[in-house]
Amino acid sequence: MKIAVINKGKIIVKETSDLELNGREGAVVRVLGCGLCGSDIVKFVHKISKDGTVLGHEIVAEIVEIKSKTNFKVGDVIITSHHIPCGECVYCRNGNVSMCEHFKSTNIVPGGFSEYVYLTEEHLQNVAHLKPENLSEDEASFYEPLGCCVRAIKRANLRGNSTALVIGLGSIGILMAQALRAFGMDVIGCDLIPDRVRRLRDLGISALNVKEMDPNFEADGVFMTSGSDKAINTALKYVRNGGKILVFSSTPNNWGYANNEIYYRELTVLGSYSPAPIDLQDSLNLLRSGQVKVKDLSTVYKLDDIQQAFDDTMNNRIMKAYIKIKE
Ligand SMILES: [Zn+2]
Ligand SMILES: [Zn+2]
Repeated sequence: MKIAVINKGKIIVKETSDLELNGREGAVVRVLGCGLCGSDIVKFVHKISKDGTVLGHEIVAEIVEIKSKTNFKVGDVIITSHHIPCGECVYCRNGNVSMCEHFKSTNIVPGGFSEYVYLTEEHLQNVAHLKPENLSEDEASFYEPLGCCVRAIKRANLRGNSTALVIGLGSIGILMAQALRAFGMDVIGCDLIPDRVRRLRDLGISALNVKEMDPNFEADGVFMTSGSDKAINTALKYVRNGGKILVFSSTPNNWGYANNEIYYRELTVLGSYSPAPIDLQDSLNLLRSGQVKVKDLSTVYKLDDIQQAFDDTMNNRIMKAYIKIKE
């Protein structure tokens, strides 16, 4: 089977031996396609993942071999995510599921940018679902990233009708803004790129170029989806006293938030990283019901062109790459 691996600062496609169940519980799935996540880019660019790693976790796949207590069967087209919390450790009991050791150690093998993937029984029982028929493959691949947004919104725990500002309208910002609206918030998005501002407006949500923002605007909650250090100042400028800033991305210089600003203005700054199974379930419902629309957000690439997908994403030429693996 073909896999795409990191190799000396590039992503190359190569052949490797086929996957088989060999009596194990779980499923071997044929990957139809896999979304390219911002976290894959970070792992690649900052060399967090070693040579030989297969990235990708936003998969849509067809079951080809299965031994499971679930109702899934050969031929089912499913969506899944990669990590599962134990539910019992100190992190899980306190709602920090993504800090759970078990969560970090569970994964899909070898990774989504592969023709076939092995899923454990635990994946099938906790984070796999049938792909809704009304969603195309690339639309369904937003199941995991939208789940991340849902968890961030729950962690921010804003009151209904609160004003939420989304800074950064890449694909994650577009998902976050729509999910916030679905949770009953009054949402406004901002970005520096006109096409991204227009995209959010086309979805019926207020959006502005950062430069056009009313200096007196105040948000109850600010959602940081931009990945730029400068966005931190924008957040501090527009969050109201006593408001919340939800950190949803790493930034290159890691400037951080000013101690005194947090203290005197009584701000809450909190992070959210990765989703719990319940957030993924909510994400699926938002996609299936059309409350979050992702049509035309993806640009489709073949597995052989995956390096191009990485380059185009890094250079902001596209909103989101979907690697179509089964032609
Ligand atoms: Zn992801
Ligand atoms: Zn745990």
